[in-house]
Amino acid sequence: MIFGVKEYAKTLEAVVAKNNIHTHFSSNVTQVDGSKGTVYYEAKDADGKIAQHTMQFDMCHVVPPQSAPDFIKKSPLADPSNPLGWVEVDKFTFRHTRFPNIFSCGDVSNAPASKTGAAIRKQVPVVVEHILATIRNTTSNATYDGYSACPIPTEYGKLMLAEFDYANKPKMTFPFDQAVPRRTMWVLKKYILPWLYWNRILSGRA
Ligand SMILES: Cc1cc2nc3c(=O)[nH]c(=O)nc-3n(C[C@H](O)[C@H](O)[C@H](O)COP(=O)(O)OP(=O)(O)OC[C@H]3O[C@@H](n4cnc5c(N)ncnc54)[C@H](O)[C@@H]3O)c2cc1C
Repeated sequence: MIFGVKEYAKTLEAVVAKNNIHTHFSSNVTQVDGSKGTVYYEAKDADGKIAQHTMQFDMCHVVPPQSAPDFIKKSPLADPSNPLGWVEVDKFTFRHTRFPNIFSCGDVSNAPASKTGAAIRKQVPVVVEHILATIRNTTSNATYDGYSACPIPTEYGKLMLAEFDYANKPKMTFPFDQAVPRRTMWVLKKYILPWLYWNRILSGRA
């Protein structure tokens, strides 16, 4: 699907239709030949068999598959049930499920949140609470609800700020429908968020 939260997916489907974009879901790029401008990919055909395809391109933007780095993947920290090697944690507290004195958040953890800096901004204070409580031999009730945010430009000068939680329910910050792309949200992403990132988020003040 185009996006896991139906309210935001609806907006993106309208963008796809408006711009005459052809989507190819459940396809896997196997090779890119830059000199021939050709991308090779496999996808299931109508019978459910994997078929090979090619497509010509003017510009190709490929996102490689994501996994934990090898030193984590091959360590006892990794989730043994997942070949991608993410660190196995409780998704609400980020405490390792087998090593209680170890915490892991961010992209490398197996918490089923969207892997974004926006999510990490909300994860870190929870981890800090639990580390401090552990050091003090107490407990903490701090939990993370899966919050994440994806600022998605939908055209020049307009953006949809998709915010949501573990339940894939919208979790909007602003008092208007954020599924509607807006110029104000584009201004937020282009000018305000970079300032917030460097001056507040990195130092843990926002
Ligand atoms: C193109 C792109 C655009 C993005 N845009 C957004 C966005 O608009 N908004 C948003 O919220 N998020 C965005 N993200 C996601 C965001 O950047 C990541 O979720 C975030 O950076 C992950 O932070 P992290 O600290 O968990 O991992 P990382 O930032 O990957 O940090 C891990 C660090 O560990 C280091 N490392 C690796 N191996 C070792 C080792 N053996 N020893 C020591 N250090 C090691 C790496 O060098 C790296 O510095 C984007 C990501 C990409 C790739």
